[in-house]
Amino acid sequence: MYDRFNRKINYLRISVTDRCNLRCTYCMPAEGIKMLHHSEILSFDEITEVTKMAVSMGVDKVRITGGEPLVRKGIVDLIKMLAAIQGINDLAMTTNGIFLNKFAKPLAEAGLHRVNISLDTLDPEKYTNITRVGKIEDALRGIEAAKQAGLSPIKINCVITKSSDEPDAQMVKKFCETNGLHVRFIPQMNLETGDFGIVEGGEGGNCKICNRIRLTSEGKIMPCLFSNLGYSIKELGVKKALELAIGNKPRSGSVNHINHFNNIGG
Ligand code: SAM
Ligand code: SF4
Repeated sequence: MYDRFNRKINYLRISVTDRCNLRCTYCMPAEGIKMLHHSEILSFDEITEVTKMAVSMGVDKVRITGGEPLVRKGIVDLIKMLAAIQGINDLAMTTNGIFLNKFAKPLAEAGLHRVNISLDTLDPEKYTNITRVGKIEDALRGIEAAKQAGLSPIKINCVITKSSDEPDAQMVKKFCETNGLHVRFIPQMNLETGDFGIVEGGEGGNCKICNRIRLTSEGKIMPCLFSNLGYSIKELGVKKALELAIGNKPRSGSVNHINHFNNIGG
């Protein structure tokens, strides 16, 4: 399906939880945020229903994100359900990688094609400072497990504060080059102030070519990361919510006062 600006919308990003095992400084306050009640979170059947409808409308690329998708109970079963949908050419996940050591193999067996793993630095102390609670060994072990499981290509999401020339980003780049990984540099963004930029090595943040819609963990279809527009599948029904989101997708991003990165998934 095409939007008003002739952009072909073929990419659905699904946030399966607003919860996370980490507390990255640019994503969540240290104390965490008010979590949704379990009853408000979409069931696997609901997520599958939305995905099937989106695929029937032209989506062929699906990404699972969060919060942290690997803290959602039964995530492997959800991947199995989504992998069974005919018409998805690319089924990916964005994860902090901490639990990949346990999940990479079952996820690959369930039909996940590939993963993006977040890693902003190779300095163990800085990693713990950025994530507030994470240990870099766990993330690195997760990357290795993803490689072993054949979840390829593996892309590393590296958030930068100013430019990809900064030393941490350069270290991550080198690490990726020597380990057969692709790196994407994501400028640190602010949903509330509308401060966003183009992802280096990826397609995000470039409004002209944006092909994305998002499903939040509580069931809203959001046409743009930097917009307050959202259409509830529970109130409108799945088809109508998808049509309204695609039909009203803004030409370019502005601000989002409703969501946080942890419930919309980046
Ligand atoms: N928990 C998973 C992870 O960290 O990969 C998936 C969800 S996370 C919100 C998705 C991506 O958004 C991560 O790569 C993360 O680094 C990025 N992100 C979070 N907050 C951001 C911000 N303020 N600006 C830019 N990227 C951000
Ligand atoms: Fe969690 Fe990902 Fe946000 Fe970090 S960026 S707090 S890992 S959801």
